[in-house]
Amino acid sequence: MIYVEKSAQDLPLTQMVAKDNNIEVIDDGAEVEDKKSNVVISNHKDNFVHRCPATNIYRCCNYHVVDIMQGCPFDCAYCILQLYLPHKHIRVAGNTDKVLEDIAFSIKDTKRRIGSGELSDSLAMDKTIPLSKIIVPFVNKQDNILFEFKTKSDVVDNLLNLNPKNVMVSWSLNPASIIEQEEPFTASLKKRLKAAKEVSSYGYKVGFHFDPLIMMENFTFPYGELIDELTSQIDENMVEYISISTFRCPAELMNIIRQRKSPSILTKGDFIKGIDGKTRYFKAERIKMIEFATNRIRANWKKPFIYYCMEHASVWDKILEYDPGEREDFEMYFPCYK
Ligand code: SF4
Repeated sequence: MIYVEKSAQDLPLTQMVAKDNNIEVIDDGAEVEDKKSNVVISNHKDNFVHRCPATNIYRCCNYHVVDIMQGCPFDCAYCILQLYLPHKHIRVAGNTDKVLEDIAFSIKDTKRRIGSGELSDSLAMDKTIPLSKIIVPFVNKQDNILFEFKTKSDVVDNLLNLNPKNVMVSWSLNPASIIEQEEPFTASLKKRLKAAKEVSSYGYKVGFHFDPLIMMENFTFPYGELIDELTSQIDENMVEYISISTFRCPAELMNIIRQRKSPSILTKGDFIKGIDGKTRYFKAERIKMIEFATNRIRANWKKPFIYYCMEHASVWDKILEYDPGEREDFEMYFPCYK
């Protein structure tokens, strides 16, 4: 059900949603039953754009996020939102003018990569809450931005009627068996690749996130197959970048994963506590996994920029033979800054 807080009733996003959906106006979003199928459109005055949270210990690419939506209809076993958000329902900022104002302010003096996929899936709800129709025309008028929709869905219809100029669409990828077991309600691998093919043929730059890589039996076989399938279906000239990183999480999230109804493969892994306090695979194992994915991609695709999200400089050095440095230095390696 879609609920609209009274203060958000007249906002353009609400009007857009109300045209095609039943809505119920309420005083306060706190009244709704807290479940993933409930959406609350609100009108709050937060600062919507901020730097991706990171530590200095692991290399961070200075990515910025816009938290226009908080909550996700999908239910990935490893999802950090289980820990970060105090609610299961989906909260959407109806006051998109303020969101766009915050984006404009953050790119006033510098070019940024900004994405909406931190506290939600960027496109999973785009059929009912068509934020893409508001964001894309706005970012296309700016000079200093590459906007990323990051998703595990195949909801791309709205994008296929918009101008791809300053926009890229990216997919998190895992082998089909991991998607089935660990990423409930998301689009299958087949559907994600089909959607990626569609938008890239239309003219959008695309990205792929092998994140989180998850250790499993015969790791190299399913991940090798996945990479071969991807690289055979998508034109590498349309790929803006690829990220690779292994599963990691705060210790408290591990407790949540252990308590989930369906058992997760993650509870069987061998982990250490990283220098930042997070649960991670052993460094030697991380290197093996990341190196395998890197080499398999490079065997098929020579051009796309590959980076490691939140990895130690020594891992970069070992596999790619360079260290990208801290945030501002790191981001200069991305193709959009060249
Ligand atoms: S798609 Fe992303 S935000 Fe949604 S449940 Fe999965 S990990 Fe969480």
